[in-house]
Amino acid sequence: MTALAAALLALAAGAANPLTADRLPPALLAECDARAAPYERFEPPVAAAAKALIDIGAFRREDFLDVAAGFCALQAADGPVAATSCGDGVILLDEKYADPREALSLRATLAHEMIHHRQHKEKKGRFGAGYCASLRYAADKSALEAEADAYGEKVAALLVTGRGVEIVNSCDASISVYLEAEDPVAVRERAASFERVEAKSRKILDERARSGAVRFYARSAPAAGTVHVWQDIESAETRFVEGRLARLKRMRLTAPDGLHAPFRLRLECRVGER
Ligand SMILES: [Zn+2]
Repeated sequence: MTALAAALLALAAGAANPLTADRLPPALLAECDARAAPYERFEPPVAAAAKALIDIGAFRREDFLDVAAGFCALQAADGPVAATSCGDGVILLDEKYADPREALSLRATLAHEMIHHRQHKEKKGRFGAGYCASLRYAADKSALEAEADAYGEKVAALLVTGRGVEIVNSCDASISVYLEAEDPVAVRERAASFERVEAKSRKILDERARSGAVRFYARSAPAAGTVHVWQDIESAETRFVEGRLARLKRMRLTAPDGLHAPFRLRLECRVGER
């Protein structure tokens, strides 16, 4: 308990400004909590931020299903820019983030607060419902904050740079791939061309994307035997790529894990695959 008391004193000393959310006027908090909406009814800027975080693979849709979130005049009351209640999973975001020019900050802040939500769930699961009112929570706060800060910053960077796209060729032949991200970070400047991925190998493309939604065409080049073509023969989305008509196939790729892995397109040459 001595260590906890010391941690509490340190926290109190470091928390001169701004006020923590639990010290804001109860009437303001009650009003903002009431305004916070569940995932399906997030206000448009919050919904767009949640979608961006899901698209980039920083969170899953399911992560948002037990959250309520909304805007609140936190800073006008000398409060923080955002807060997540430990007890009931309400995320309050300062109203300045409703401005479209704050979209990236809102996304990073929502990612930060979603980490707090995940932390609270994990801790309540381990220590019981009383965790949120415990000295343990008070003592944990600076470590929880550091983790949320780090994740929010990484997500902001990822939203700017996008993820890479990796082609995994499981076939015994090389494959030529043409791929477009539907949410590219940069506008494509080069003429459409194929990337060649050798047999049983992988390659990260130049394309970087904010979601795993892609359109692509691919064709294997076996020395003999069946040529495998990945396309959508009914697609109206066609490109001429190095003189060949490519009817693009749509697919939504996932990133394997964490924030560093690229979106991954796995191509297998099973018989009958098109
Ligand atoms: Zn925080």
